[in-house]
Amino acid sequence: LRTQVAIIGAGPAGLVLANVLTRAGVDCRVVERRSRAHVEARARAGLLEHRTVATLRRHGLAGRLLSDGVRHGWCDFRCLDRSVRVDYGTLSGGHAHWVYPQQFLVRDLIEALGRGGVRPLFSQTVRAVADIDTTRPRVRCDTLEIACDYVVGCDGFRGVSRAALPRAHRVVPHRYPYDWLTVLAEVDEAAPGVVYAVGAEGFAGMMPRTRHLSRFYLQCAAGDTEAHWPARRIREQLHARLTPLPRIESLPEVRVLRMRSSVTEPLRHGRLLLAGDAAHVLTPSGAKGMNLAIADAAGAAEALVRGLREGDAGALAAYSGRRLAEIWRVQEFSDRLLRLLHLPPGEDPRFALRMRLAAIERLAEPGPHAAAFAHQYVGSGAEGSG
Ligand code: FAD
Repeated sequence: LRTQVAIIGAGPAGLVLANVLTRAGVDCRVVERRSRAHVEARARAGLLEHRTVATLRRHGLAGRLLSDGVRHGWCDFRCLDRSVRVDYGTLSGGHAHWVYPQQFLVRDLIEALGRGGVRPLFSQTVRAVADIDTTRPRVRCDTLEIACDYVVGCDGFRGVSRAALPRAHRVVPHRYPYDWLTVLAEVDEAAPGVVYAVGAEGFAGMMPRTRHLSRFYLQCAAGDTEAHWPARRIREQLHARLTPLPRIESLPEVRVLRMRSSVTEPLRHGRLLLAGDAAHVLTPSGAKGMNLAIADAAGAAEALVRGLREGDAGALAAYSGRRLAEIWRVQEFSDRLLRLLHLPPGEDPRFALRMRLAAIERLAEPGPHAAAFAHQYVGSGAEGSG
């Protein structure tokens, strides 16, 4: 097979990239190791930032999300029997998230690509990326090989594209001293909004998804496993840390999420670019992962269109530097929020909780400090992430 851009991975990053390139007249192929049914059913993120939606809208990819998604502009912090509402919609001057599950967006993006005549190669695993220092890199898959001008690795945290980078590329990792149990739950009514509960027994969080599905998070010990979390314990801990909460009918998915962050630097070598989780991993604290993946894809698409259609190599040369500046800003925000939500080990919880409540209350008080947080959280304006 021969194409201009070979894209590895049909997650949000790979699919946004493929759509934008196709609409700009750049030929591309997407290779995905899973089946179409699998990627369209994979429930993960669900909060789309203001700028992410603006990007999707600009490229004609937001139709269904705008009609079926729900706008959301506040989050509640619970701490020491207080509930503090941060109305980030108002504090940011009217910007909001859209609640729209990742798997619905993935489905929409595959459909949109199909309308442009491109069908990802599903159930085809990429085994290696070769010759990225030449003008004809190649992507070796299970049963075929793709020769192309550029390869974009959108293959997530465990993909193969990162391995093709020379050793000089640094992965800057960070491991937090706890993990999160992430629980997808069927509920009797939609979660009213995003809730973060900070307490001596550990953090708990609730994120809306659909009318009958919500995602919950429970802080657990680093290295913990699902086996230690039978349904009864999950329900007990959710009630203990997060009451009031909707009635939980069933728990279709329970996983331990290792709480780690990492960034690969730089994001490009020769004819290989990285985008999305292949380039960086964030904790889910600020709901940034999918948004940053889509922002990377939009940046890579712009650089490739300029390089391939207009012969302007400058944008490709600038891709890594531009994206890394923003990626580190978003990492810093997610890290700051995560530290607010957890008590430092060994510190007297009475003091640590008072400190956190004071910090949370500042986020709700109109003024520059709260406005800056609101813009970063919702991804709007100069302070945004997407
Ligand atoms: P992915 O979505 O991981 O897509 C990569 C694709 O590459 C996959 O389809 C994979 O099958 C494919 N692939 C991998 N290796 C190969 C190979 N060798 N050959 C071919 N294909 C390959 N983010 C948020 O913004 N908000 C949230 O609330 C949020 N919650 C989350 C909850 C959970 C439980 C999880 C797991 C993640 C969450 N995230 C959240 C993170 C978000 O889902 C990711 O950041 C996002 O999926 C990244 O998109 P991506 O396209 O870069 O990678």
